[in-house]
Amino acid sequence: MAEHESYDGGPVAALRRIAFLLERGRQDTYKVKAFRAAAAAILPLGEDAVAAAVADGTLRRIEGVGASTAKVVEQAVRGELPERLARAEAEHGGPLVEGGEELHALLRGDLHSHSDWSDGGSPIEEMAFSAIELGREYQVLTDHSPRLKIARGLSAERLARQLDVVDAVNDHLAGLSGAGFTLLKGIEVDILDDGSLDQSDDMLDRLDVRVASVHSKLQMDADAMTRRMLAAVRNPRVDVLGHCTGRLVTGGRGTRAESAFDARAVFEACAESGTAVEINSRPERRDPPTRLLELARDLGCVFAIDSDAHAPGQLDFLAYGAERAAAAGIGAERIVNTWSKEHLLAWVKG
Ligand SMILES: [Zn+2]
Ligand SMILES: [Zn+2]
Repeated sequence: MAEHESYDGGPVAALRRIAFLLERGRQDTYKVKAFRAAAAAILPLGEDAVAAAVADGTLRRIEGVGASTAKVVEQAVRGELPERLARAEAEHGGPLVEGGEELHALLRGDLHSHSDWSDGGSPIEEMAFSAIELGREYQVLTDHSPRLKIARGLSAERLARQLDVVDAVNDHLAGLSGAGFTLLKGIEVDILDDGSLDQSDDMLDRLDVRVASVHSKLQMDADAMTRRMLAAVRNPRVDVLGHCTGRLVTGGRGTRAESAFDARAVFEACAESGTAVEINSRPERRDPPTRLLELARDLGCVFAIDSDAHAPGQLDFLAYGAERAAAAGIGAERIVNTWSKEHLLAWVKG
């Protein structure tokens, strides 16, 4: 019989790693939930209590621990590499895409991500810890704005409360040795029909980074859509134009055509006003499409390669965006998330 491979990460790390890998591999969230729930259930108990529960066979009595997650915990507590973890590493731990590796390695952070305050699946701190584990220097938290009710967009009041939570998370991280990481304050603000933004100027001014995206009336008339987008990208409060065409190319949500607008006019305005064009890395978006990515490149735009992560494992999607940017021949110096955090923060204020 083969010896068990040893594992000293402990049960919480094993469960979190399995969840991360499944999310990274775009597995259904219901499969992932069990592992995140079990990690959350045993974390506050402490290692000794968990080991005791394994020893006396009462692990399954802990709410949130099921059959498959109990097996992971038992194996990790015994110091063996959990079989489920080994399988997830084998299936989902390899490179996501071929190409763009050099550029990917230069990315210091990510300007677009969601927590369970809007339509993400994980708490703010879990997103932050996962970004740290990926070696990021910063992560911008950009939950949705109020009008996107389906995504539980944040009212000004909830956003104000979230900013206090971000401060608390950063205070906590500063107390951990060698963290050097900052969770930055942001928003993915809806661009309303007339091009105005779905959050008060006062709240927008309290944020580090503002991504503005169209989420409604995606098929409006091209002239009206162009005016709408021009107003947004010329707004001095907007730093990044999110997923500009709104298209969906694959995946569980089906497909959706690109919005029609004068891309040359919009990208010229982005270049003029220093608004970054987002390269949205989500595999079902791949937005902008290649011809528009090349147009924005030729018009002198700067870019942000964003994960638009709705779960920790999706933070790794930056690899997909880096591959597309490299294939389009966009130099690292034009990609704002290759810049130092100080440079980036000076740019968003400028
Ligand atoms: Zn969006
Ligand atoms: Zn988003």
